[in-house]
Amino acid sequence: MTDPKQLRERMVSRHLEARGIRNPDVLAAMREVPRERFVPEAMAEFAYEDGPLPIGEEQTISQPYIVALMIEAADVSPGDRVLEVGAGSGYAAAILSLIADEVFAIERHESLAREAQRRLLELGYTNAVVMAGDGSGGMPEQAPFDAILVAAGGDEVPEPLKAQLAIGGKLIVPVGGEDMQSLCCITRTGENEWTEHDLGRVRFVPLIGKHGRYEDGSRSATNHQPARRLSLPECVAEAAVPLPDIDDPDFAAAFDRFADKRVVLLGEASHGTHEFYAARAAITRRFVEKYGFTIVAAEADWPDAASLDRYIRHQPPREGAPAPFERFPTWMWRNTVIAQLGHDLRAINAGRDPDKMAGFYGLDIYNMSGSIEAVLAYLDENDPEAAKVARERYGCLTPWQADPATYGRAAMTKGYAECEHLVIEQCRDLLLRALGDEDSGLFGAAMNARLVASAERYYRIMYYGGAESWNLRDSHMAETLDHLLDHGGPDAKAIVWAHNSHIGDARATEMGEVRGEHNIGQLVRERWGDESALIGFGTHTGTVSAADDWDSPRKVKRVLPSRSDSYERVCHDSGVPRFLLDLTDRDSTVCRRLAEPRLERFIGVIYRPETERWSHYSDAVLPEQFDAYAWFDETRALEPLGGPEPETGLPDTYPFGM
Ligand code: SAM
Repeated sequence: MTDPKQLRERMVSRHLEARGIRNPDVLAAMREVPRERFVPEAMAEFAYEDGPLPIGEEQTISQPYIVALMIEAADVSPGDRVLEVGAGSGYAAAILSLIADEVFAIERHESLAREAQRRLLELGYTNAVVMAGDGSGGMPEQAPFDAILVAAGGDEVPEPLKAQLAIGGKLIVPVGGEDMQSLCCITRTGENEWTEHDLGRVRFVPLIGKHGRYEDGSRSATNHQPARRLSLPECVAEAAVPLPDIDDPDFAAAFDRFADKRVVLLGEASHGTHEFYAARAAITRRFVEKYGFTIVAAEADWPDAASLDRYIRHQPPREGAPAPFERFPTWMWRNTVIAQLGHDLRAINAGRDPDKMAGFYGLDIYNMSGSIEAVLAYLDENDPEAAKVARERYGCLTPWQADPATYGRAAMTKGYAECEHLVIEQCRDLLLRALGDEDSGLFGAAMNARLVASAERYYRIMYYGGAESWNLRDSHMAETLDHLLDHGGPDAKAIVWAHNSHIGDARATEMGEVRGEHNIGQLVRERWGDESALIGFGTHTGTVSAADDWDSPRKVKRVLPSRSDSYERVCHDSGVPRFLLDLTDRDSTVCRRLAEPRLERFIGVIYRPETERWSHYSDAVLPEQFDAYAWFDETRALEPLGGPEPETGLPDTYPFGM
C-alpha cells in the first residue's frame, strides 16, 4: 500500500478541508490516527476513501468526513470529558482522545467493544476507555460531559443524554427514520435549557436500546407511530409505466415522450447485460426510423466504430483496416445485439440519401482499449511487476470504484515511470495506424487531426489514471458529440449509448459531489438543458458478462440481489418487473420521495461480487441524476458473437463476420 501518511494527508485535504472542516485540532488528529488499523485487513486499502466500511457484527466504521464534522460541531477541546455512544471500531474515540482529556466510549456489541479497547491501547491512546453495554441512556456515573457524540440514529433525542451534558456542553446525535436522519446539534444553555440546530442529512445504523429502537431496528413502543402513507416502493409502483417485452413494439413506443429532444442519452448499469443493450437497440431503431435521429454515438473507440459505421452506411471497408472491437472487453460491442442493430440500421439507411443516413460513432476518441492493450503488452515484456499494477489499475478506470490505493501504487512503481515515454510513443503509433490516412472525408480527417494533436497529453494522463483522466475522457466525449451535432446541422439529433456513470448527471452522485468529477451527462445537460434527456437503466439480479480483471476472460457472473439500502431494492420491492419511471417533474411525489440519497450499483467490465459494496455501490440522488429510469428486475448476460461461451477467434469478415 502507498504510504498511509500520504493517503491520510490526501484524505484530509480532499475529503475534509475541501468540504469545510476547519478546526486545526480535528484536522491534526485525522492526519495522525491510522484508520487502516481500525478496519479488517481485507478492507485496509479502502481505509482512506471517504466512506463507511464494515467492521463485523453488521456494523460500520463511520465515514471520515462525518467523524470530523461531529467532533468539530461538538467543539471538542483540550481539557474536555467526552462520551461517545456507539464506539464501533474505536476510530472516532481515537480521534477524540488526541484532542480531549478523557474519552468514555460505549458499544453494545461486546466483541466490538473488546476489540476497540485492545486497539486503542495497542496504539497508545490510553485516555480512552471503551465499555460494552447500551449507551442510549448515556453513562450517568461519569456525567457531566462537555460533549456527547452518538454514532447511531433513533427516532428521538434520548432525554438522559441531554441531562448528562455540562452547561455549555454539546450533544451531536442523528435523529429520524431508518434510512436517513438529521444530524442534530443540541447545546445545553442552562439547568433546564437547551438549543438545537440541524447539521444536515446523514445515514447511520440504528441506535438500539432502551432510549432507541428495538433490536430489529423498528421504532420502540414508547414512540408514536406516524400515520400510514405509501411506502417508497409503493410510491414507485404507482408512478411507474409498466413495460411489455422488449420485442413488443409498445416497448420502444413508451419512450416516445423523449423523441422531441435533440440529445437522448441511454445508460446501462453494467457493460454486460443483454436487456440494457436490447432495450437501447429497440429505442434506437424506432428513433432513427420515425423521429429523425441520425447520430448514434457510443462509449466505444472511434476507429473501431468507424468500421461499423461504414457497414451501416453502405460503404466498403477501409483497405487494411483491422476488424473492429477485437480488444478487451470484446463483448461490449462484438455482441449479438450490436450485430443485429448494425443490420437494422443498414436496412433503414438503404433507401436514404447519404446525408440523411444514420451513422454510428465512437466517443472514446483516443482508441482507449487499443492504448491500454499497448501499455499492457509493453509492460508485460519489460516490467512484469508494473504490468500487474497496470492491469489492476485499468480494472478500476471507474470513478465509482472505491480503490484509491491502486492508483497510488501504480504511480509509486519505479518501472512504471520509466516506461512512460516509450509506452506513450507506442500509443501514438497505434492511433495513427488505426485512423488510417485515406478516404475518411473532410469531417473524418478533421476529427482524426484533432485526436492526434492532443493524443499525447491524453495518453500521459491515462497512463497515470485518476480523476483527471476521467474528466478529460468525458470532456472529450462531450466535445466529440458537439462536433457530430454541429456537423449534422441545426436539426441533427443524437442518441448516446454509455454507462450510467457517464450519462447520469455527475453532480447528483458521489463522483461529482465528493470528487469533483464531471461526465458527459452533466455536460450535455449544461449545453442542451430541456432539449436533452438522460435515461438511466437498472436491475436487481440475474447474470452479467464481466471479467475478474482487465484483460482476463469474460465470465457469466451472477449479479447479487441488490442491497437493502439501494435504489435498486426500492425498484425491486415495487413488484413491477419492467418499467419506465419518468422523473422530469421534480415536484412529483415520487421525485421528492426518491430525493434522499441512496446507494446505486455500478458494474463496468469488471464485476467483483466479493467486495460488491465497496467496488460497485456509490451514493446518488436518482431523480437529479436522470430524467427517467428504465427498470428490468431480472436480467441476463450479454452474449458475445460466436455463441454464449467466451469466443476464441472470430471470422474476420466485414464488419464482424456477419
Ligand atoms: N464511531 C464508530 C467508529 O468510528 O467505528 C462508528 C460505529 S457505528 C456507525 C455505530 C455503532 O453504534 C455500532 O457499532 C453499533 O453496534 C453501536 N450501537 C448502536 N446502538 C447502540 C447503543 N444503544 N449503545 C451502544 N452502541 C450502540
